[in-house]
Amino acid sequence: MKINFIDLERQQARIGDVIRKNIENVLGHGKYIMGPEIVELEERLASYTDSGYAVAVSSGTDALLMALMACGVGPGDAVFTTPFSFIATAEVIALLGATPVFVDIDPVTFNLDPAKLKLAVAALKNVDPASYPLPEGVSGFKPRGIIAVDLFGQTADYDAIQQIARENDLFVIEDAAQSFGALYKGKKACSLGDISATSFFPAKPLGCYGDGGMVFTDDESVAQRLRSIRVHGKGSNKYDNIRVGINGRMDTMQAAVLLAKLEVFDDEIEQRQVVAGRYNDMLGACDFVRCPVVKEGRKSAWAQYSLLTDSRDEVLECLKNEGIPTAVYYPSPMHLQPGYAYLGHEKGDFPVAEDAAGKIFSIPMHPYLSGEEQEYITGHILNCGN
Ligand SMILES: *Cc1c(COP(=O)(O)O)cnc(C)c1O
Repeated sequence: MKINFIDLERQQARIGDVIRKNIENVLGHGKYIMGPEIVELEERLASYTDSGYAVAVSSGTDALLMALMACGVGPGDAVFTTPFSFIATAEVIALLGATPVFVDIDPVTFNLDPAKLKLAVAALKNVDPASYPLPEGVSGFKPRGIIAVDLFGQTADYDAIQQIARENDLFVIEDAAQSFGALYKGKKACSLGDISATSFFPAKPLGCYGDGGMVFTDDESVAQRLRSIRVHGKGSNKYDNIRVGINGRMDTMQAAVLLAKLEVFDDEIEQRQVVAGRYNDMLGACDFVRCPVVKEGRKSAWAQYSLLTDSRDEVLECLKNEGIPTAVYYPSPMHLQPGYAYLGHEKGDFPVAEDAAGKIFSIPMHPYLSGEEQEYITGHILNCGN
């Protein structure tokens, strides 16, 4: 049986005609940059996520970067985040010359642990800046905000995180790159931060055919700043540059693809619940893998279905031999990545993240996975453990 990790071909078989028609429309009007599809997509997604404003951008990474830029983050600032995420989350903080301050994760959800966040925020106030790694020429730092990540499609605990933020005058950015379509206590993912950022990388729950992202906020002045940053810090026009910005635009072609995919997105999210439920049933009694847990009051977008096991090397090797694709998100926590060695961390600093990085693996997950295919996959997982 040939099994894909993510199956964009089956999605194309379903909506390929609409996608092609939408692309044809763009070829017809020729407005490849900031065409009408961009505005339509922004309006549709602002409404979908119950956000005041949506700004279409060039990628999920740029969405996070621009969110931090809109908050005025720079050298001397500290931003709290998880060590267990895709590298982009910490990268954007470092790129702006600010300092990423890692906080360990909850072992059940793999998201930022609010109890540890509270301690870390309090501790930073008492740290001697001289003992802390800072960019050249920077002599102090100021706790400015938090980037929480909704890992694998399940949102972080925003009630607790927002409370800590309010008590300490910090902003909250939601990294919703994996959670578009998820719910937290009835609220939509992408509406849970002061600013929220998502990605439309092809493998994400809502993916385009290239790079793309979106920034969401309820604050009109933030939305205005984001639109300016998106076009080189433009003022009244793009040759009037009132701040330092970037080229952060989404291509019209990608918006056209996303508008087509939006038609079936709600159904796909429901299908993902069915697929995850079947995996839970098939693997729930298995004693050498731990199934993912979605906390009360949350609905995951199921970007990934990730298992924990003490014998990962053996299981992955065995599944590979059966032609079943797997992936490891993430083999190394960010505080141990060589590019971030300047932060001075060592093994043992964030034990929960390190433990997860050593045990986690993800199995095929997409809305078009059949029960038969899942029997095949889980049957081999059970065999591999014996
Ligand atoms: C994918 C991802 C990003 C980056 O999105 P791109 O569109 O690939 O730039 C950021 N954060 C997380 C958690 C992601 O999964």
